[in-house]
Amino acid sequence: MSLKSFQPTLEYAQQLDRLDTLRSFREVFYLKSNSIYMDGNSLGLLSKRAEWTLLEVLEGWKEYGIDGWTKGKYPWFDLSEKLGALMAPLVGAAANEVIVSGSTTVNLHQLIATFYQPEGNRCKILADELNFPTDIYAIQSQLMIQGFDPDTHLIRVKSRDGRFIEEEDIIAAMTDEIALIILPTVQYRSGQILDMKRLTAEAHKRGILIGFDGCHSIGAIPHSFSEWDVDFAYWCNYKYLNGGPGSVGGLYVNRKHFGTKPGLAGWFGSRKDKQFDLEHIFTPADTAGAYQMGTPHVLSLAPLIGSLEIFNEAGIENIRKKSLHINQYLMDLIEHELDGMGFVIGNPREDHRRGGHVSLEHQEAARICKSLKENGIIPDFRAPNIIRLAPVALYTSYEEVWHVVQTLKTIMTEKQYEKFANEREVVA
Ligand SMILES: *Cc1c(COP(=O)(O)O)cnc(C)c1O
Repeated sequence: MSLKSFQPTLEYAQQLDRLDTLRSFREVFYLKSNSIYMDGNSLGLLSKRAEWTLLEVLEGWKEYGIDGWTKGKYPWFDLSEKLGALMAPLVGAAANEVIVSGSTTVNLHQLIATFYQPEGNRCKILADELNFPTDIYAIQSQLMIQGFDPDTHLIRVKSRDGRFIEEEDIIAAMTDEIALIILPTVQYRSGQILDMKRLTAEAHKRGILIGFDGCHSIGAIPHSFSEWDVDFAYWCNYKYLNGGPGSVGGLYVNRKHFGTKPGLAGWFGSRKDKQFDLEHIFTPADTAGAYQMGTPHVLSLAPLIGSLEIFNEAGIENIRKKSLHINQYLMDLIEHELDGMGFVIGNPREDHRRGGHVSLEHQEAARICKSLKENGIIPDFRAPNIIRLAPVALYTSYEEVWHVVQTLKTIMTEKQYEKFANEREVVA
């Protein structure tokens, strides 16, 4: 991009939009003319392409009934495998190392049930104290199923500042009692990226398996799971990937683990050619497909077909480049316009350590979020004091970001937030 250095003007934002090589993708999404969507990190917006493939899959049902499993534009029988192949470039994996199936929580249960193999003293699971609750609940319940007490067998690496987890602290906790490590790729509050390559190498040096939750990085940043030799990963597809509410999730299993028996077996994990032999002896697929369980939620897979086409056209490297740039622009504006108003930027500032959103901290965060909504801006709030703002590379414009910061400025100077209670909504 050739342009002048940062300026806080609307004209500068408009200039950035003209130079944005991804700007044409904005037209593909359903945006509201009277509001600005800054919550694509929680639920991505519907694209026309995703809507279209959903309608096409419905058409297959209408037209073929039961034969839709093998007929129509997108036969359902191997749709999870086909989507896995389309998703593989986003995580840096071979096509057969990725399967689109289950949900984040379900897939984590499957992967722990498969790869947590306690032996003697090596029987603890290492996680971190900032991870999303569902991941922790799944680990706790899997420990209990194996007869262990989560209070002693789940080790959570502490955060020094409540925002980040230091890689050194994680590595120091990799003792010979640890059998398995589960960490996020990107922290959902602070947006910190963990150094997955380094952590994987350190875990393997100590004979520990390691897996990552990619919910906050899939579709926002590139990954090299195969190259880094990560053992497994799992993620949801309704955040940056725009697969729709309740969209089917994804999982990655390193090919060196193919053949490891699924902890939670089900017939859709069968070798495709054997599945309909309907034998009581389970023959798992020799791909990541082995870790599926039951019949795929076809209608919740369908929007992903269109959505993944968009990602493969735009290119994840280009998406990351714009994401870094537009998030930097948002931070520059915040520092320039909101100085002295009590805001703290709580995400890492270095490019290689920050994900796809800005984590803006403020004592009055809950009611500032309500004010933003009243002003037609959709952020999200994370207790106790975080306003998450996600300018999404495929559909957020620089001009919108400029308006968001201007609105925040007005809310603060006019104290508009004071009319709301400083507490979260049911779904925050
Ligand atoms: C969004 C998110 C989840 C959600 O899990 P579901 O099973 O899809 O409800 C889990 N973990 C993290 C880190 C998330 O960000």
